[in-house]
Amino acid sequence: MQINLYNTLTHKKQEFIPIKKENVSIYSCGPTVYSYAHIGNFRAYIFMDNLRRMFKYNGYNLNHVMNITDVGHLTSDADTGEDKMEKAAKKEGKDPYEIAAHYTKAFLEDIESLNIDKPNLITKATDNISEMIQMVKEIIDSGYGYETSKGIYFDVSKLDKYPVLSNNDVSGENAGARIVVDPEKRNPYDFALWIKAPENHLMKWDSPWGKSYPGWHIECSAMGRKFLGENFDIHTGGVDHIPVHHENEIAQCKGSFGHNPANYWMHCEFLLVDGGKMSKSLGNVYRLSELKEKGAEPLAYKLFCYSSHYRNKLNFTFEGVCSSQKALNRLREGYLKNANGNDTIDESIMSEYEKRFHEAINDDLNMPVAIGVVWEVIRNEKKSKSLAKLLLKFDEVLGLDLINSEKYLQESKKIEVPEEINELIEQRSKAKEEKNWTEADRIRDLISQMGYMIKDTKNGAQVEKRS
Ligand code: AMP
Ligand code: ZN
Repeated sequence: MQINLYNTLTHKKQEFIPIKKENVSIYSCGPTVYSYAHIGNFRAYIFMDNLRRMFKYNGYNLNHVMNITDVGHLTSDADTGEDKMEKAAKKEGKDPYEIAAHYTKAFLEDIESLNIDKPNLITKATDNISEMIQMVKEIIDSGYGYETSKGIYFDVSKLDKYPVLSNNDVSGENAGARIVVDPEKRNPYDFALWIKAPENHLMKWDSPWGKSYPGWHIECSAMGRKFLGENFDIHTGGVDHIPVHHENEIAQCKGSFGHNPANYWMHCEFLLVDGGKMSKSLGNVYRLSELKEKGAEPLAYKLFCYSSHYRNKLNFTFEGVCSSQKALNRLREGYLKNANGNDTIDESIMSEYEKRFHEAINDDLNMPVAIGVVWEVIRNEKKSKSLAKLLLKFDEVLGLDLINSEKYLQESKKIEVPEEINELIEQRSKAKEEKNWTEADRIRDLISQMGYMIKDTKNGAQVEKRS
């Protein structure tokens, strides 16, 4: 079935045609690991997950690379301010590498809790410095780069066209937020490829330009080229990457090897909070752990993201994500009812569901429509193992781990158990150990009167709320 994707480069939805038949190569801009990633960031990685899962569903082999930015991302996109890693290191009184290791670990744990499929390769910027230096050299040699007292800059006026992704006017006086007046720069929109390190800078490398460190944009250009080659299928990121980071990545690749590296550029819209962007710098961010405290699992947040197309803004509320938690539990219950059902479903109904789900995901990842088909399956009055199987097939794209529905439902019931009930359960286990069956039964009845039910399993006593 044809796959259509919205390409920021052409500003339209177009058929996906791979460079190599049945294979897809994807580069995804990864996190800057100077603090914990927030749920807004995870919206971008849930989108990335859906994309790779959709390709797998369509039988593609994936070659997917994601970077970890552990140096060079400055606090301002206008090439000013401090390196975010150095700033965090100073604030926390630690080495920047320790900071990077800590937040990378937290990030990987979080994406696992979201059941996000890991890319084939996750690579750190600091592990690819020599390829970055090489690329900057090439850019200088081909006349696109020049040196100033601060670093090596890219001369955007040398390009036939800049920008190509966004419609920013770079010609006039419209010196937007990312422009800083620097008399050494040839053009206001010229950007740093390589940055000369001040004396006290912690992360720096020997280079033809002295002790220095990479600019954020050159990192992704060099890593994409190293691991996926000079022409790959798709480059992903968030919409904030369009006007600066990705624009500059394309410029660098043109300056280094003559062309834009990716055929499709895809961008995920923002998660908003109170109508504004959720961002670390604005301080209005939530972590997955904060959702958990309010009773919403990471997977409920994933389902919440499916309420909106990835190219639309999505407004976050705790209410919204808590109702997604309830919906997720209903989905799990629906799956289990089907897994235990014995009704027969018409083949034509099954293939109609499958066709509509498949069309939705192939239509630029239309998850709201796809999830609508899932609910139709759940609402079918007939309950059958074949529908359960179909739901598991859909889950290859949804990534909601439906196969483990029973475990999650038990866990979510456990969460609601009050402390006094847990104490009674403990007293009952003790009574059973002492073979005091009368006392054990008395406690069981008491627990039952309080609205809970005990089930003795091989893993010990499990408690559920009585329905
Ligand atoms: P960073 O770690 O800041 O480099 O960002 C990691 C990813 O999260 C990038 O793809 C950003 O575009 C994306 N991102 C940042 N804030 C948001 C948000 N509020 N909603 C959706 N994506 C975001
Ligand atoms: Zn990037």
